[in-house]
Amino acid sequence: MDGDRCNFCLEGRLKSRQVREYFRAGKGLVVIERVPSSVCDKCGERYYDAHVAKQMRQLAKKGARVKTRISFPLIQFQEKKISA
Ligand SMILES: [Zn+2]
Repeated sequence: MDGDRCNFCLEGRLKSRQVREYFRAGKGLVVIERVPSSVCDKCGERYYDAHVAKQMRQLAKKGARVKTRISFPLIQFQEKKISA
């Protein structure tokens, strides 16, 4: 995939990178690090090999060996009325 044209924006080129992916797991969230991916250098769209995508889903579902737990702020979106 490296060097291929992005199918999403049709402009960028794909580069091999390791990324961080977020998955819903029950009521929580699982973050998987160092996922091999091809990322568009223009729009940031990510592409995964089929076996990688499958493995990520399995890891998220089974709750594989947890490396660490992280906390993060949860903010509720509140729309502001913009006066023209
Ligand atoms: Zn793109």
